[in-house]
Amino acid sequence: MEQTKVSSKVSSRSDRHGVPSGAGHNASPDLRTWLRKLSATDRLAVARSGVSLIDQLAAIGKRLEHTSAVLFPSPKGHSIPVVSNIFTNRGWVAESIGVHPNDLLTRFQDAVRNRLPWVEVESAPVQDVVHTSNIDLLKLLPIPKHNELDSGPYITAALLIARNPKTGVQNVSIHRCQVSGPDRIGVLILPRHTRHYFDMAEQAGQALEIALVIGVHPACILASQAIVAVDDDEMEIAGALLGHPVEMVKCRTNQVRVPAHAEIVIEGRILPRVREPEGPFGEFPQYYGPRANREVIQVDAITHRAKPIFHTITGGGMEHLVLGEIPREATMLEHLQRSFPSVRDVRLTRGGTCRYHLAVKMDKTNNGEPKNIIMGAFAGHYDLKQVVVVDMDVDIDDPNEIEWAVATRFQADRDLLVVSGALGSKLDPTTDNGIGAKMGLDATKPVEAEPMVFKRIHVRGEEDVDLVQCLSDDAEGVAAQILSG
Ligand code: MN
Repeated sequence: MEQTKVSSKVSSRSDRHGVPSGAGHNASPDLRTWLRKLSATDRLAVARSGVSLIDQLAAIGKRLEHTSAVLFPSPKGHSIPVVSNIFTNRGWVAESIGVHPNDLLTRFQDAVRNRLPWVEVESAPVQDVVHTSNIDLLKLLPIPKHNELDSGPYITAALLIARNPKTGVQNVSIHRCQVSGPDRIGVLILPRHTRHYFDMAEQAGQALEIALVIGVHPACILASQAIVAVDDDEMEIAGALLGHPVEMVKCRTNQVRVPAHAEIVIEGRILPRVREPEGPFGEFPQYYGPRANREVIQVDAITHRAKPIFHTITGGGMEHLVLGEIPREATMLEHLQRSFPSVRDVRLTRGGTCRYHLAVKMDKTNNGEPKNIIMGAFAGHYDLKQVVVVDMDVDIDDPNEIEWAVATRFQADRDLLVVSGALGSKLDPTTDNGIGAKMGLDATKPVEAEPMVFKRIHVRGEEDVDLVQCLSDDAEGVAAQILSG
């Protein structure tokens, strides 16, 4: 696998966006680059035509979410193909940016620190076709309904790009987008960066110009989830991950710049002082986010490639979980290592919805330090509800290993830390509007323990025994002979 080389950081804000270039020359990798790779390596299943966009498409994707991406060449009523499961585990994500899975978090941290500004281009494949009148989202685009009780079709894999109304700096994030009408989208905007920009616009009585970008390289999607400051443009992190500045083009109906090699762009405005019902929608905790009055996007244009591909992510599915997991782990690892150099790796476990439960691997040299690490982790992100600290000989990718450490290296009266009444995730249904308890488990062995007491058993040769040499080619015959007696 080729390691992506990171270009050096472009220093000043004034020399960015200045390079004119025709679209298509030495372009940065796009969704198709990645899909071609999946197809060439037998990881892109292709559905028959006529799959229903309501439930059925998501059902097929869900069944294959641990094994392959799925391309739906012509879902029922549409000629535009849909793709889902473009990454099914962290290994695929690592591969998409050219690193070993063990280096994924450090590579992501490196990209956050050494960003690569994008460049603006004059023309772009994503504007090959432009619709500005008679917009009808469900007629123009194959937008699926995913989880059973979702309120209807949702655009789930779109990068929402917004501009700071005062400075023009861009923010990239992903929001669930309900199709509320032919040219109206209901959107959930949590109190983060898009919210900050929208509040600025709304207070001035103005709409916030935005674009929804569908069908980009996994690096762009991953970058959108980076936990960085407001006014840190995530597309620069995407550039660093790709080792190539992302080419951006100005929207046709507003000032937002969008990736030139995306598949589809929906241009629009989040309307001031307008709220309409949105939800329910199946979310990462494996429950439905409730229906409530939320912001509305007025769609002004849809642009796309001549033959676009629509990317969709099923809420709460593997793609959704993996996507949220990696940037959060990278941030948590950096946060912990600042205070605790003994911390070697972290994992937000699947069972903990890749948000609530953290496993920390440490090289322990001081008793008591795991409890400090637990407290540090809770301070690092309010979503965290449970932290388990384990030793270096525990594989934190394997939930059974973590449970084994708790079973054999943890005593509840001594190694358990509980903090009540702290802020947690509002999407955790056991909290009181987000207020809940934190639990930390020190499942590490004591520093002074006799080596044999906590020495893991092991069969010598297990890892590299040559089974082809050691096993008979006539298993059935030999077994029959012995069993006949
Ligand atoms: Mn941001």
